[in-house]
Formats: sequence, C-alpha cells, structure tokens
Amino acid sequence: MSNRRPYVGGNWKMHGELAGAVELTENVAAAIGEAVEAVDVTLFPPFPYLQAVGHALRQAGIGLGGQDCSPHLEGAHTGQTSPAMIADLGGSAALIGHSERRNELGEPDALIAAKTRAAIAAELQPVVCVGETMGEREAGNALQVVERQVRAALEGLTAAQVGTAVLAYEPVWAIGTGITATPDDAQSAHSMIRSLLGELYDAGLADSVRIIYGGSVKAANAAELFSAPDVDGGLIGGASLKVDEFASICRAAVSA
Ligand code: PEP
Repeated sequence: MSNRRPYVGGNWKMHGELAGAVELTENVAAAIGEAVEAVDVTLFPPFPYLQAVGHALRQAGIGLGGQDCSPHLEGAHTGQTSPAMIADLGGSAALIGHSERRNELGEPDALIAAKTRAAIAAELQPVVCVGETMGEREAGNALQVVERQVRAALEGLTAAQVGTAVLAYEPVWAIGTGITATPDDAQSAHSMIRSLLGELYDAGLADSVRIIYGGSVKAANAAELFSAPDVDGGLIGGASLKVDEFASICRAAVSA
C-alpha cells in the first residue's frame, strides 16, 4: 500500500433482515471505533435496509452505499433504484458491475459504463468491480479481460470523474469460494490497472485512485493481501457479516 488512504467496503449482498442489519451496523461501528480515522469504510446493505443502516451509522464516520444503481437518473424504470435515491437516503457510493450481477443478470460492459456515469452524475462514488472467471484465467486471458472491463467502464469519463471512483479487482473464482488470489496475482492485476490509468489519463491520477481487492478476504489473509504495493484495501463479502472479522480486516488495511 502507498500513501493512498485505504478503503474497505462491506458488501452484505442479499443477506439478513431489518433488525439484524441494524444490529450488525451498530456492532460494526463499535468494533471499528477510531480506526475510521485512517481508513475509508463503506457498508453496502441490501436496498430495503439502506435508510435504517444509515440511521444506525449516525456519526460513526462510516460510509453507506447501494449494491447497484440504475443507469437512469429518474423516470419509468420499474424496479430500479436511481443513484439520486441512494444519495437521498444518505448513501455516498454505489457498487457497480459486481460479478454476481454481470453473471446472474447478464449485465454487459456498456450497461456498467452507463451506471458508472449515472453514479458520478448524482455525485455518488462508483466502486467499479472487474475480474476474470476461472476459465478466462486458465486460458491465459485474465489481464486482457480485466483491461477490457476497466476500459469499458471508464469510457468517456474525464480524469476528474475517474478520480472520484474506486476500482475493485475481484477475480470471479475467488468470490465466496474460500479461494483467495495470491498477493502476487492480485498485485499483477492491480499494477496493470494502475498502468492503464496512467496510459488513459495521467500518472498523477493513476497514483491516486484506490484499487481494492475482493475475493474471500478474511482477517487471516487481509494483512498479506493488503501489503501488496498496489492493493489499497478490500471489498469484503462473507466476512463483512461477521463483526470481529470485518473490524480486523479494517485494522489490517490501516496497518498495511
Ligand atoms: C464480494 O461480494 O464482492 C466478495 C468479495 O465476496 P467474498 O468476500 O465473500 O468472496
């Protein structure tokens, strides 16, 4: 990690119920405590719990985000949630292009780019997820796939707009599987993404954008993963539902 401020996101996916979400939020905020002064932490609860989790966060210094957002700012789009609605409920970020949406719902690169633009237009921080499948890795195409996804997501954005984003490298084969990329594998993808930002924009932007790793991060492996020079923290799924695990991961990001 460099002098970039570390970032840890907790993606709760479609887990829990209202009372449990509030309790988890309060316990996470208490367990992280003053570490939030040295790490940006954002919780991504299911949409129906966004407002309650926001209230439970109160002055904890922890951010709130949606797990997705519509590419549209408003209008006749049944079932979608606009980035402005997330902001209206106190959210400051949106996950975009998570592999569970790319794969289960068939979200293509162009839609992910449109969502990224919509999030930025509503002044939400887009946390844009990219990552290769096991088949793509085994075929030797991991870095090409990730490069294509990053180029597509950032299409048409200015350096200032990209500067508001966080990029999350999440190899699909590591998400929810208990298999984690090695720090070297993560570093090689992160370093390629950072070089690409330098090529598309400039060295200053490349040096400042946080690129976080996701895929079976736990308290036991977080410090090693976060010690890779271009890994600026993590996007945490399963372990974000466990108070002590998540708080340890946040502390590991501070210490890295
Ligand atoms: C995720 O959902 O983005 C994720 C990385 O999940 P997990 O930590 O459970 O692998």
